[in-house]
Amino acid sequence: MRLSRFFLPTLKETPSEAQIVSHRLMLRAGMIRQHAAGIYNWLPLGTKVLQNIIEIVRQEQNAAGAQEIIMPTIQSGDLWRESGRYDDYGPEMLRIKDRHERDMLYGPTHEEVVTDIFRNNIKSYRDLPKNLYQIHWKFRDEVRPRFGVMRGREFLMKDAYSFDLDVAKSRHAYNQMFVAYLRTFARMGLKAIPMKADPGPIGGDMSHEFIVLADTGESAVFCDKALLEKPAPQDVNYETDLQSVVDSWTSIYAATDEKHDAAMEGTLGANLVKARGIEVGHIFHFGVKYSEPMGAKVTGPDGNPVTVFMGSYGIGVSRLVAAIIEAGHDENGIIWPEEVAPFKVGVVNLKVGDAACDAACDDLYAKLKKAGKEVIYDDRDERAGVKFADMDLIGIPWQIIVGPKGIAKGMVELKRRVGGAKEELNAEAALIRVLA
Ligand code: ATP
Ligand code: MG
Repeated sequence: MRLSRFFLPTLKETPSEAQIVSHRLMLRAGMIRQHAAGIYNWLPLGTKVLQNIIEIVRQEQNAAGAQEIIMPTIQSGDLWRESGRYDDYGPEMLRIKDRHERDMLYGPTHEEVVTDIFRNNIKSYRDLPKNLYQIHWKFRDEVRPRFGVMRGREFLMKDAYSFDLDVAKSRHAYNQMFVAYLRTFARMGLKAIPMKADPGPIGGDMSHEFIVLADTGESAVFCDKALLEKPAPQDVNYETDLQSVVDSWTSIYAATDEKHDAAMEGTLGANLVKARGIEVGHIFHFGVKYSEPMGAKVTGPDGNPVTVFMGSYGIGVSRLVAAIIEAGHDENGIIWPEEVAPFKVGVVNLKVGDAACDAACDDLYAKLKKAGKEVIYDDRDERAGVKFADMDLIGIPWQIIVGPKGIAKGMVELKRRVGGAKEELNAEAALIRVLA
């Protein structure tokens, strides 16, 4: 992509409405623009990052055996009367009447809809297990939408729903998602801590939140340092029993404001980490809470009907964009982990119109594109300072800087966004390094 053509409305000034660094940087880097309170437009740069995150989430859900579907955003109120949640849910639910005066709503979550799909289409225990997920927009009329996409009213969520014949099998489905979440967040360069949680309005007997540490996080976190150092599981076979993997994580101390046990302070001593965190995922095991009232049953092996056991599994996909920025930035802007970066490489032409600079940049740009690297080429007629500042603001991991002095010697400069280290080398060597 040529920067001269890219729709990237960056801002020099810090927007006054933004209270936390991720919100400020998302506005300054031209990623998002507010449409109404808690409702955002995603501009091209933001959309690219969001799509990279979606792809990681999707790959890890598929690897764990979940199957992607798309459910409606607008739902029927009657379905929520069947589960009993239509009246319980409260003002966070945006209620709508259609032209026939029927009660509709914009989905804050999809347990009812997916249970309806299940009961209408799956009849036998032989069709189990099933785990269905979508990556779709939700609306919750939050009392205090704030911090940009961190707490929006409309936001993108990955929500998966598992269906199993008995409680042991549905525990396995829960464990599969638990492990998939550890891997998903690690691939985004995040350290997410699983923490025993309160199931809230979703309900159920078992629930974990996944929390990313950041000073601006809304939750207080106390945990054993060992949890921060533990690497995410590699080469997982999702068919095998994962209980011991899950136990190896849940047995390490982690707690919130309310649940922190002062006695642990003494036990853990210097290994106790006191921090704040952002909830990026939440998984629930709730058994028959929805399947029972909604009649989601299959014929069991003995021919008798069995009510299925369920769990649901959310990831805050749009919130993750902000969480990744909270975890990775400096005074110059965003520092994207390579896997989610909107462009992996930037080519900076310091003297547009200079034949040697233009030729070297065009060549690099063509070769990087041919190699399948996402590349942004700053071909604007702008001052060098502006170009450097924009590359750092939007967080490009590798930057190849081409100027007239260097190119006369056949050299370019290769800069890493993390740490800012620069080295001079020839263009071919820079290419090899970036493509490695
Ligand atoms: P929170 O406690 O932050 O309000 P929640 O517990 O109500 O979230 P869940 O129902 O667990 O949210 O939703 C699954 C995930 O969706 C959350 O872990 C979070 O990452 C994300 N999420 C929830 N509410 C919002 C929101 N208003 N804006 C952006 N992401 C959200
Ligand atoms: Mg939650």
